[in-house]
Order: sequence, then structure tokens, then C-alpha cells
Amino acid sequence: MEELWHFVGGRRVKGKSGRFSDAYEPMTGTTISRVPLASREEVREAVDNAAAAQREWAAVNPQRRARVLMKFVDIVGREKEKLAAILAREHGKTIADAQGEIQRGVEVVEFCIGIPHLMKGEFTDSAAAGLDVYSMRQPLGVVAGITPFNFPVMIPMWKFAPAIACGNAFILKPSERDPGAPLFLAELMLEAGLPPGVLNVVNGDKEAVDALLEEPEVKAIGFVGSTPVAEYVYAHGAAHGKRVQCFGGAKNHMVIMPDADMDQAVDALVGAAYGSGGERCMAISVAVPVGEETADALVARLEPRVENLRVGPSTDPSADFGPLISRAHLERVKDYVALGVQEGARLRVDGRGFKMQGYENGFYMGGCLFDEVRPEMRIYKEEIFGPVLSVVRARGFDEALSLASNHEFGNGVAIFTRDGDAAREFASRVEVGMVGVNVPIPTPLAYYTFGGWKRSMFGDLNQHGPDAIRFYTKTKTVASRWPGGVRAGASFVMPTLS
Ligand code: NAD
Repeated sequence: MEELWHFVGGRRVKGKSGRFSDAYEPMTGTTISRVPLASREEVREAVDNAAAAQREWAAVNPQRRARVLMKFVDIVGREKEKLAAILAREHGKTIADAQGEIQRGVEVVEFCIGIPHLMKGEFTDSAAAGLDVYSMRQPLGVVAGITPFNFPVMIPMWKFAPAIACGNAFILKPSERDPGAPLFLAELMLEAGLPPGVLNVVNGDKEAVDALLEEPEVKAIGFVGSTPVAEYVYAHGAAHGKRVQCFGGAKNHMVIMPDADMDQAVDALVGAAYGSGGERCMAISVAVPVGEETADALVARLEPRVENLRVGPSTDPSADFGPLISRAHLERVKDYVALGVQEGARLRVDGRGFKMQGYENGFYMGGCLFDEVRPEMRIYKEEIFGPVLSVVRARGFDEALSLASNHEFGNGVAIFTRDGDAAREFASRVEVGMVGVNVPIPTPLAYYTFGGWKRSMFGDLNQHGPDAIRFYTKTKTVASRWPGGVRAGASFVMPTLS
């Protein structure tokens, strides 16, 4: 079994804490590596390295910083098959899905190549006689990202690309469940010309996270993961004076109006609910057909589609989705299905008994479909994060709208309809951060920002797009007057423009 490492100061560094966790290959259920869990001292060493490297990196002009990212995009293109294979092996998603994830990460790096433009400040010539005012964006220093298991390439890229483009040094604390791909990314950044120490990867658990949250030299923390941890990281990081943005869990609804194109809606729904085994923060986990007739038609079409989903190992190109991340998570998802039955929801398709021939120890389950789920049930309220779709029947548009709006999570939502008025009203009124109109997973493109509302997000700036540049920089405003200009003499009153 391979022992993994940290990546600090441009080198692989062996773990010294003596604590490890196991990473699995979900398709076979075997343990493939031991992941070192960093101590506070190891985190401190990474922070020291980053702080030393950051000063010089911030002095590199933005055009040259952009060129490193350009080269990185090329190298990721060259290595995309290897990267997808590492990712799929540790996570369990299919190779095609892994390639899609890499692409969505690269798009954010491409956006950051525009950093010379994105970091430009503002300038007012002659704001008063002889007085010019301008603002500039400066890097924060050392910043850190704590990322989840479900996008081990895309989310680290969403974090480190804008941070580094802005002139910060970055410490990535990836999920301990699949750190192989993020470790590989750090080596590719070095090959692209990033100076050692500007991007560091520290593996670990709560101890490493707490060390980052409490370390005075770390100026900002970007977190993505489950809501309880997001809330903790937000509160604890803010208490230590950091800029913090934390993205949490989700329960994304898809509303199907009576006039929707039912074939299009069902295709969209099976892909968005069961793709990646439902382990996406933008997965649809609740379908809300409006009216009994719509609901009956939807469920009649969905049932055979869910029964016929192809579950397979990540390496099977014909699989719709692969195994879940771990045995513990598989059991948790199955427990939710049992709970749904107990709560009185109608289980139309039960994938719990699925066994993958030749891969009997893998973490597989088939798709599950619940009908007649009610809002007071726990399977509706809580995030399951597996291949389980709940149908909640709504009597009308307002009820469907209020279901999505009143849910404690507010990450993504979709409406399927042919009625422009209904779609427009829904998009405008719904209390959710990202909305799709006949688009099931409305993950914004790299040049917009990504973020949910309510308990899906703690903080006030979103990920990627223009918000990322704001998050990873601080603004300085300069008022400037030269001796040759107007002399006003000494003044003891509050300065005004008059
Ligand atoms: P998680 O919360 O278990 O872990 C996320 C990170 O936090 C990992 O790096 C982990 O090591 C660390 N961590 C775990 N427990 C901790 C603790 N007690 N104290 C400090 N740090 C801790 O999440 P996960 O299971 O890896 O990822 C799945 C979750 O992430 C889902 O809830 C999903 O909805 C969410 N997610 C959200 C978004 C978004 O943008 N909103 C995107 C992807 C995933």
C-alpha cells in the first residue's frame, strides 16, 4: 500500500505526525493508500514556506503570473487522462464524469489568465482641483482552501487558481478521502513554472483544519463541504479574524410544470439525480411535479429509467455512475432509504440490493426512487448525497415555489416549463442561489460566480468569477495631490470637495 505525502516548498514531504487515514478504491473496496494527517507543527512549516514564497510571488507582474496558469492549462491537457484515472480510481466516479470535472476546473483557471485585467483598479482624474483618486487590489498574503471529496480536482482549482493569480500563496487541505489528484495538481503547477512554496498541499483532518483556522499568518479561508463543518469553519475562522467563505450542503429541487416537455424533463432528471451517484452539491435530489396528472406521468416514465440505470466500475465506459466514496457512506445512504420507508414514503425503485459482479467488495448501490415524499420527512429535509431521488407532489406553482424557497438549503433549483411567465416569476422569486430554466444543473460558468443561499453558504462572496478576485484581494484607495497643484493652506474642518 502506498504512503502519500504532503507537498510543501515544492517537494514531497513525508508525514511526521504518525497519524494516517486510509484512502480506498471504491470500485473494488480495497485500501490503496495511507494518507498522512498533519500535526499543527507540520501545518506551521507549510505556512512558513508559503509566507516566504508569497513575498516574491506578489512582486511578479500579473502578466507573468498569468503565463504560469496558461502553461498549467496546457500541462493539464497533456495529463488529462492520467489525472482522470487517478481521480476516478480514488473517488469512484466514471472516467467520463472525471473528465467533465477536470474541464470545469480548467475553465476557472482560464478565467484567471485574465488577471492583469481582472485586478485593475479604478482611477478618477481631478476628483478635486489637483487631486487624483485611485484604488488598487493587493493580495492578502497566505490563504488556505479546505475542500471536499466529491470534486477533488475542480474545487481545488476553483480555489487556488484565483488566489495564486492574485499574488497570494496557497495552502490546500484536500479531502483525506481522495488526495491523490490534488497532490498531482501541485506538481503540475510546479512544472508550469510556479515558484516552490506558492502552492502547498497539506493532508489532514480536523487538527490540520483547526491549525489553519487559528494560524495568524493565514489571512483567508475558502471552505467547501458539508453544512455542519462549513458553519464551524466560518465561525471559528471569523473568530480568529480571517476572511472566510464556506459553501455547504444542498437539497436541490426540480419543479416540473404541467406544460413541460416531459421527455426532456425526465432525461434531465435522471442525469442530474443519479450522475456521479448523486454525490454532487448540484445534484437534483427532489422532483416536484405540479398537479396529480403531471406527477403520475412523471413517475410512470421515471420508474423504468431508474430501474435500468447502469451502475459499474469507474473504468466501465458504459456505466451511468460508479460506486460511492466509502463503505460508511454507502451504509449511511442505505439507512436513509430504510428511514424513508419507515416514514411512509413510497419506495418505487429499491437499489439497495445491487451487487456488482466481479466487484463484490466495491461500494455499489443502484438508483432508488421515492414517491409521495412529504416535507416533514427527514429524507426530504436532510442531504442524503447518494443515488436517491424523492418525488414531492405539489398542487400548484405557489406550493412548488415555496417548497424550494422554504427548504433550509438554497444551493440550486430548476424549473421545467414552456411558459416564459412562470419561468421568469420562479427565477425572480425563488430563495435559492443558482437557478436553471429547463437546465437541470445550473452550475454557473467560470466567469459568473458560484454560490448557494441560506444554509448552503456562510460568508458573503461567491466562488470563482469576479467574486473570487474580490475575495482574494484587499482594496487600497489612494488620494494623491502634487506640490505643483492647488495649495489650499491648513484646514481644520472635515475635508470636502467644495
Ligand atoms: P466534509 O464536510 O466531510 O469535508 C469537507 C472538508 O472538511 C474535508 O477537507 C475534511 O477533511 C474537512 N473536515 C471534515 N470534518 C471536519 C471537522 N469536524 N472539522 C474540520 N474539518 C473537517 O464534506 P465531504 O463529505 O468531503 O463533501 C460532501 C459535502 O460537500 C456535501 O455536503 C456537499 O453538498 C458539499 N459540497 C458543497 C459544495 C458547494 O459548493 N456548496 C460543493 C461540493 C460539495
